Order: sequence, then structure tokens, then C-alpha cells
Amino acid sequence: MPLRRVVLAASLFFLALTGSRTVLRAQQVAAKDPMLEADHKIMAEIKDHNEIMANLEYLSDMIGARLTGSDNLTKANHWTQEQFRAYGLDDAHLEAWTIAHAWSRGTARGRIVSPAEHPLTIASLGWSPGTNGAVRGAVKYIKADRIEDLAQYKGKLKGAILITSEPTPFPPPYEPPPNPLLVPFEEPYILRPPANVPGQPPPPRPAYFRFLREALKFFRQEGALGVLLDSSKEDALLNMTGIGGRSYEIGALPVAFITSENYQLIWRLMKRGPVEVEMETTNSFSDKPVDVYNTVAEIRGTEKPDEIVILGAHLDSWDLGTGSTDNGTGSMVVLEAARALKKLGLSPKRTIRFVLFTGEEQGMNGSRAYVEAHKEELPKISAALIHDTGTGRVLSIGLMANYQDREIMDRVVAPLREIGLLESSQRSLDGSDHASFDKAGVPGFFAIQDPVDYNRTHHSQSDTFDRARGDDLVQGAQVLAAWAYNVAQLPELLPHKPAAEKKDDE
Ligand SMILES: [Zn+2]
Repeated sequence: MPLRRVVLAASLFFLALTGSRTVLRAQQVAAKDPMLEADHKIMAEIKDHNEIMANLEYLSDMIGARLTGSDNLTKANHWTQEQFRAYGLDDAHLEAWTIAHAWSRGTARGRIVSPAEHPLTIASLGWSPGTNGAVRGAVKYIKADRIEDLAQYKGKLKGAILITSEPTPFPPPYEPPPNPLLVPFEEPYILRPPANVPGQPPPPRPAYFRFLREALKFFRQEGALGVLLDSSKEDALLNMTGIGGRSYEIGALPVAFITSENYQLIWRLMKRGPVEVEMETTNSFSDKPVDVYNTVAEIRGTEKPDEIVILGAHLDSWDLGTGSTDNGTGSMVVLEAARALKKLGLSPKRTIRFVLFTGEEQGMNGSRAYVEAHKEELPKISAALIHDTGTGRVLSIGLMANYQDREIMDRVVAPLREIGLLESSQRSLDGSDHASFDKAGVPGFFAIQDPVDYNRTHHSQSDTFDRARGDDLVQGAQVLAAWAYNVAQLPELLPHKPAAEKKDDE
């Protein structure tokens, strides 16, 4: 045997030896630690038998976009309820809450008329009224962040189409997405860097949208025709949000997103002189309030059924794509965690409840409604964990400064190190359903995920099934299912922090 082969054979033997020792050690540990043993079963069941991508494809392609208040969303509520039932969950049901107006998107078209003709790629904001036929007007830039700033425009807006910000510049090429674990701790929007970093989408501006909603009333009084917003996305992708606020009001004036490329073109042309734009949008509203639903199911606890661990995601979406990664992925991960835990028959001590919220995109309204409807139960909810930042792997769990839970959470997530889950983080993220629990004093945790291209595609035409990554979602379901089981088995409920002061943060 040539020397090289001897060395190779020897090292293979050594590897085999140490490898089998590792296996032996793992088995010994598993035998001693029922939590680890259960977690291994959960991980194997999800890896080998998951139905995540099949379910996500059905939700995306056969049901489609799921605007809050739409028939599609109700269809998705019923379908997920049926799936929970088919998986053998207990008490799969829908919990209703109400919105003032459902909104239906109609058509939208627009063009720059002069100084040169260019087509616009355009989409109405949610809860924006239509233009009532084609309207045409000079574009006017409004520089204002507060209602007081608007006085200077009195008498100057008749027949105008308004823009209300400078364009967001595109990024330098090959800029990697921000590492979600390295964004500064105090930044509440972990996946969104500070405003005006070239090429990064601006952080959501809830306060700005609240201002804009008020400003629209002034613009209408002054005779303006509509408002165009910058999508702040690359590759001619549109963005989407609502102008009806958390109360689902009818917007006072037509507002629409156009692509960044369109917006920058208008901005450049305005430096040369007057720019005239034509737009025509048709949208409609329900004439009365509409019931919408959260889908809820559970595995009842064997020893402490009235104590609850919640896994959640939001089933509603915006409607330019099919809401596949915002938040079909999270919803199907929660459904898969339910399937696997039920199938394994692990009989958790506490109840594990699975909640698919709605109205998240208009201000976490379904989870707020849930917390309100279940307020008697809140002291007995150990914690809620939400998966809502796209398809990426779960890197860590964000604890929202629940320092009192740190040590216990270290033990809860330790077995998940082998699927790449790092230690928990104290960071906070506002703007998804866990925050509704946090505000009520229940530990509301969120999955900190690999961003993949979430910021680029979410809320755009490109949020479709093909963006989802099966392997990442398998890992996400493994994390959620094992986390929920481990928390359900703890000797005590997770300690709660005092309820935060109520603030209107919409
Ligand atoms: Zn979302």
C-alpha cells in the first residue's frame, strides 16, 4: 500500500473512531435529557416530512394576495383552519374582529405628458380612493413634515399633482444587505438602516404617514388632484402600504406609488422646468364595516392546559405580489410546527397555541385585537414567538429587552445550536405582531432572520412563491416547534416584565 494510502486509511479509521464516539456521546446525552431527545425528534420529523413548500405554493398560487378585508384572506383563513383540523389540532377556529372599510384595488395608469412623454409604472396605495377619470396636472414638490409647514402652500395647489419627498438614491453596486445581528441595538427596525443611506429603503415612517393622511385633507381642500410617492426600490419594483391608517379610513385624496426610476425621472425633469403628469386610478370600498378573522388552533397541555405558549405569523398581505414571503412563509412555518408537534404526540405540559393574525400590514391590528379579546388570559401566556421577516433562516431570537428571561431562554435554545440558532438577543423590533404582546407585558419575541432579499421584494410585485427557500423554512419550523415545546415544558411560566406605557405608535 503506498504511503499516501496508508495515511489516508489511518486518518479515515481515526475519523470513524472519533465520529462513532461523538455519536455515542450524543446518544448518552439524549438519554439523559428528555428536552434534547424531543427536540431531535421534532427536527427529524420536520426535515423528513414537512409540507411547508407545498402549503406555501397553494397559499400563494391557488389563493393569492390576501388584503385585510378581502375574500381571498377569508378563503385563506378557512383553508388554514382546515389544514389545522386535518393535522389533528384541537379547537381550530376563526376569531372575528372588524374593520371600518374593506378596500378593493381597481386599475391604475399614468404617464408623464410633458416636457416629454414617458409611461409611469403606478399602483394606488391601499385605502386610496380613485381619481374619478383621468386627471392631468403640473407636478409640485411639497417640502413638509408637519401640518404647520403646509401654510406656505395655501392657494398654490389647485390642479396640481404632488410629490412629497426627494428621491431615494440607488445604492452603490454589490452592497451586501445589512447583517441583522449587527444593526445597532437601539434601532427598532432591525432590517432597516437609518434613513437616507443611499440605496437602502428608508425606514417605515409611521409618523410621516400619519402626517400625510392629515395633509391629504389640506391638499384636497386646496384643489390638488393626487399624490405620487417614491417606491424606493430597485429594478422598477413598486412598494405598497396603506393610507387608511389603523382605522381603515378612506383616504382623502388619490395617492399612488410609482417606481424609483419614474420618480427620479420626474425629479430630473423638474430641474429643467414644469412637468405635467396624467393619472387615472379606480378603487372601491365596502359601504359598511367588514368582519375579518384570525385563524387559531392549539395542542392542549396535559398538565397545565390553561397556561399557553404562542407561535404566530400574519396571514394577511399586500396585493401586488402574492404575499409569499410577507408573510406566507411565517404562516406556513407556524402551520408546519403545528403539524409536526401534533404528529409526534409529544403531549406538552402547557398548551401550545398557533395563531395566524390578520391586519398586520395596517398596524398589527389582528394581534392587537387578539390581545384585547384574550386579556384575561395574558398573565398565563408564557411567551409568543413570531416569524415575520421573510424566507431567511432564523439566526437568533429577539427578546425585546426581556432581560428577566435571558437565562431560561439560553437553556431553551441550547439544543438548537446544531441547526444554526445563535444565542438569543435582547434587541427590539417594532412593527410586527410580537410587539402587541410586548406592549401588554407578555414576553413577545421575534425570529431574527437572514434578510436574504426581503427588503427588496416584500410589498412589491416580486413577493411571490419563487422567492421562498425551502431549506431555510425547514430550519425556521424546526426552531419554532422546538422552542414552543421547550417553553411548554419549563417548570414555570417565563417571567413577564411590567406592561409598557401605552403609546400610540401607529
Ligand atoms: Zn410582515
